[in-house]
Amino acid sequence: MSVLELKNVTAAYGNAEVLHGINLKVEPGGAVGILGANGAGKTTTLRAVSGMVKTGGEIIFDGRKIRGLRPDQVAALGIAHVPQGRGTLARLSVKDNMLIGAYRRKDSRAVTADLEHYFDLFPQLGARRNNLAAALSGGEQQMLAIGRAFMSKPKLVLLDEPSLGLAPGTAKGVYEAISELRRESGLSMVVVEQNAVLAFSIVEHAIVLETGRGVLAGPRDELMGMDAIREAYLGG
Ligand code: ATP
Repeated sequence: MSVLELKNVTAAYGNAEVLHGINLKVEPGGAVGILGANGAGKTTTLRAVSGMVKTGGEIIFDGRKIRGLRPDQVAALGIAHVPQGRGTLARLSVKDNMLIGAYRRKDSRAVTADLEHYFDLFPQLGARRNNLAAALSGGEQQMLAIGRAFMSKPKLVLLDEPSLGLAPGTAKGVYEAISELRRESGLSMVVVEQNAVLAFSIVEHAIVLETGRGVLAGPRDELMGMDAIREAYLGG
């Protein structure tokens, strides 16, 4: 059984439909990329899963229909959404931002252990644990947003353009951290990216969106071998 399945999903802002029937499957432990140009509907697809936009079709998570649930209800089921622009709380400390990710958890000892573990994994954050999130660099804020999502012990993580606005070396570092978290947690992911080289460094499958429709889908290696993908997303 898939962890997440989207069947013919539509989404609209007001009366303007911007997704016109998206299909997507994420297998347990799998990572799926959503590629596409600006405005193709990548962010809206993640918002549809999280209950942040008016949707049609079917969204099934862990065998349960979740379309129509509120964002807090979706999160409570074990879906952590790292939005574009990160959404860290600038006026709170790094540590408190991380703890917000764990606010539903009752296992306070394990929460403390996880916090230390993530600070070991992201030493720059560990060193700044008592600083305000506002004082972090862009790459550190992205790491914080991702760490906070993992602190909720989710079953599925939705990552919206983790590389956005980061220098190439920093973006690569963020993706290496994501790979490491994935290796150790074995959880499933959906990763939205404009940078296909980075996306393909972690996903096994991807779909390509164009103006709210899936135009290509398949295993990573198959997509990477396609001329259309190479020309549009991989620099020829
Ligand atoms: P980007 O890479 O630029 O974030 P995207 O592929 O994530 O692009 P979306 O943000 O999902 O694309 O946008 C899909 C369409 O929905 C676009 O035409 C966009 O203008 C429109 N749209 C996005 N957010 C809103 C909103 N809040 N209200 C109205 N229209 C919106």
